[in-house]
Amino acid sequence: MAFHQLSKSSFIKGLQCEKHLYLYKHHYELMDTLSEIQKAVFSRGTNIGILAQKLFPEGIDTSPRDVRQTSKAVEQTDQFIKNGASILYEAAFIYDEVMVYCDIISLHEGKWQIFEVKSSTGISETYLWDAAVQYYVLRGAGYEIEDISIVYINNEYVRQGEVNLDEFFTVESVLADIQSLLPVVQQNVRKFKGVLNRPEMPDIEIGEYCTNPYRCSFFNYCWKKIPENSVFDISNMHFKKKMELYRDGIIKLDDIPNDYPLSKNYKIQVDAFKSGESLINKEAIKEFLEDFEYPLYFMDFESFQPAIPLYDNSKPYQQIPFQYSVHILTEPDAELKHYEFLADPNEEPRKPFIEHLLHDLGDHGSIVVYNKSFEIGRLNEIVRDFPEHLEAIERIVERIVDLMVPFQKKYYYKPEMQGSYSIKYVLPALLPELSYENMEIGDGATASVSYELLREMDDMFEIEKIRNNLLEYSKLDTYAMVRIYQKLIQEIDL
Ligand code: SF4
Repeated sequence: MAFHQLSKSSFIKGLQCEKHLYLYKHHYELMDTLSEIQKAVFSRGTNIGILAQKLFPEGIDTSPRDVRQTSKAVEQTDQFIKNGASILYEAAFIYDEVMVYCDIISLHEGKWQIFEVKSSTGISETYLWDAAVQYYVLRGAGYEIEDISIVYINNEYVRQGEVNLDEFFTVESVLADIQSLLPVVQQNVRKFKGVLNRPEMPDIEIGEYCTNPYRCSFFNYCWKKIPENSVFDISNMHFKKKMELYRDGIIKLDDIPNDYPLSKNYKIQVDAFKSGESLINKEAIKEFLEDFEYPLYFMDFESFQPAIPLYDNSKPYQQIPFQYSVHILTEPDAELKHYEFLADPNEEPRKPFIEHLLHDLGDHGSIVVYNKSFEIGRLNEIVRDFPEHLEAIERIVERIVDLMVPFQKKYYYKPEMQGSYSIKYVLPALLPELSYENMEIGDGATASVSYELLREMDDMFEIEKIRNNLLEYSKLDTYAMVRIYQKLIQEIDL
C-alpha cells in the first residue's frame, strides 16, 4: 500500500514554518476556526477548478469520494492511465512519500502536461513551489513530463454573452521557472519528514512568516501569549517594525519608552493610550465642516466581487454594487429620512442600483461618505460600463465629502480608536451605545458573501432573513455617519 507523509499543502506549510507543518500533522485540533469569508474563498477555488476542467473536456474525474482514501486514489489513477486515459482531473500520485493531486493532466504525444488551477489573477512564488512539488513527484513516479502550467484568471477579461473560457483563463508554462526549485524540493522533503518524525514540536518563535505568504492557520494558537494593547495593535505600522519592537522586548504599548523614535501618527496612538487622553483640533474640524451644505445625504454602498463575471460588461473580481443606504438630514434639527436599495440577487444589480440612487440623491446638497475612494471608485466603474449616466454621476461625485478626513488626519483622536480611523473603531469610540457587535452581518466582507449566497438559496425564510440583515447593516452604516457628524458639531460647539 502506498504510504505518504507529506502532501503539496503540507509541504507549502513547511516552507512557511516547520512548526506550522508539525501542528498541521499532529495537532489539527488546534487550528483556527475558518470564518465564513475564508470558507467562501475555498469554495470559490473549487468552483474555478471545476470551470477550468472545461478547457480540457471529456477528462476522467479521479477524485476519491473520501479524501482519506489516498491509496485508492493513487491506484485508481494508475489504472485509468494504464487503460489509456489521456485527460484526468484530480489525478493522484505518490513518490518519496509525498502525495499530490494534480488539478488536470493531459497526455500529448506520449508525454504528460500538468495544469494547476488557481483562482487568483497572477502567479505567486508559492504557486511555483506547488508546481515544483507536482513535477518532482510525477517525474519521480516515472512519468515523462512535457510541460507544467499554472491556469489563472485573466483580470482583463470583459464578459460579453457566455463566458469565453479561453479568454477568461490564462495558461502559463512555469517549467523553466521551477527548474531551480527542484533540487531544493528534494532537500526539503527530507527535512520536513524529519520534522514530522521528531517527538517534539519545533521550538519556533512567532515572526514575519506567521502572516507571509498567508496568515498561518495556527495563528491564534501561537499568538495567544501576546497581551491586549501590544505593539502589534499599532495601527498601520509595518509588521516588520512591530517584530523589531517585539524582539527588543517591547511588547505592550506601555513598554514603549517615551523617547522612543516613532512617527507622528504612531506617537499619537501610543501617547493617547498611555495618558488616556483624547486629542481634538477644533479649528481644523470647523474648517473641514465648512464644506458641508444642507441637505446632507449620508450614503454608503455595499458591493460583491464574483470571480467569474456574472454580467455583461464586467470583469473577474470587479466590485459590483448591489445595495445602498442613504440617510437625509435636510437641516440640523430636521427629522432624518431614510432611503435604501437592495438588488434582486437574480438580476443584474448595477442598472437598478444607479437609477434608484440618482433619484434618491436629489440635485443639491453634500453627499457624505466614509472613505470616498470606495464610493467614487464604484461610481466611476458604472460610468465606464454604462456611459449614459456620465453627466449625472459626475454631478454626484462633485458633491461628495469624506467624513473620514478628521479621523484620518487625527483632528480628532480617542484612545479607544486604537490607532484606526475605520468607522468600525471610530463609531464605538465616539458613540459606545451604537455598535456593530451582535449583528448577524457586521462588516462589508460578510455583507458581500451573504449577498453572493442569496443567489444560490431557495428557502424563502432564509432569503428574507439575510435580506433583512443586509438592510439593517447598511442602515446602521449611514446612521452611524449621521451621529458621528452630529458628534463633531457638538464637540466644536457649532
Ligand atoms: S503562527 Fe507562526 S510560529 Fe506559529 S506555526 Fe504559524 S507560522 Fe509558525
